[in-house]
Amino acid sequence: MVRSLTQCYRLISRVFGFNCKSRGCPIGVELTVLGSGSGGNVTLVSIEDTQVLIDAGLSCREICRRLSHLGVNPEDIDAIIITHAHGDHARGARVFSRRYHVPVYTTLRILNEWGVKDLYEWRELRPDDIRAIGDLSFQSLVIPHDASETLAFRIDTPDGVIGFATDIGVITSELVALFRECRVLVMESNHATDLLRVSPYSLAMRTRIASSEGHLSNEELADFIRNHLGESVSCIVLVHLSRVNNAPAIAELTCREALVDCGREDVRIVMTFQDKVAQTIHFVTAGIKKMHAENFLQEGLPFSEATNAQMTETRR
Ligand SMILES: [Zn+2]
Ligand SMILES: [Zn+2]
Repeated sequence: MVRSLTQCYRLISRVFGFNCKSRGCPIGVELTVLGSGSGGNVTLVSIEDTQVLIDAGLSCREICRRLSHLGVNPEDIDAIIITHAHGDHARGARVFSRRYHVPVYTTLRILNEWGVKDLYEWRELRPDDIRAIGDLSFQSLVIPHDASETLAFRIDTPDGVIGFATDIGVITSELVALFRECRVLVMESNHATDLLRVSPYSLAMRTRIASSEGHLSNEELADFIRNHLGESVSCIVLVHLSRVNNAPAIAELTCREALVDCGREDVRIVMTFQDKVAQTIHFVTAGIKKMHAENFLQEGLPFSEATNAQMTETRR
């Protein structure tokens, strides 16, 4: 099933052998979170002929299954970018890279912690550098988290800037500056502070999650929104929600309250899920500011039993 304009044009291009861009077709940037949470994180950012996965933390098979529901062939993926070496971000990258001949971009420190030596191809990212992949450009920034190195990204596209940061112990002034001009923010909203306090997790695990090298709470994200949200932001995508220490309704409400507090009721919130593909965000269809609900895919995808069995609410 064709689920977006880009996929429609891509299909037409493939079948009839012409370039939509040269004929003025409105192919714009699309962002879809294929899965998010401690069981595996994968996000697809695409524009015209460039398709990039940010993280590949589900099995290769499950990534392909979810891509197929978006009408995307795994052979058409141009790059995988790994934010950090935890399994929920890197699990399927090696097999995907080798099977579909996809280069993997990450830093040397992340590669060394990950320990994989037989990728199809490794291309080095350096913190603070800007790296172009097709029409997308990725500026990386190191953020606090308990991996050897964890990257956030400012992604410049022809249709606006995306800020992408998950697994954040604490929001730094550098991250605030990096995200100032964004139109869309993809940010962690991992746990509700009160739910973490009464969580069945061990004290050590709760302390680690709440630490400045752990995960970002709903309340910490709300503080960022109240104090630092850029005027150009029109959409916030909440990712990496804990299934034990959070609830989608609580995360969304906390974010919404912060937006109301700072007079930003116009900002749309998009929720993401561990077990199904989230709504696709289209940058060009109607302009982010004018987007209506019908521009989003409302339907989630079923979750395979195989992947369900892999899901554990662990640190990685
Ligand atoms: Zn994670
Ligand atoms: Zn992590």
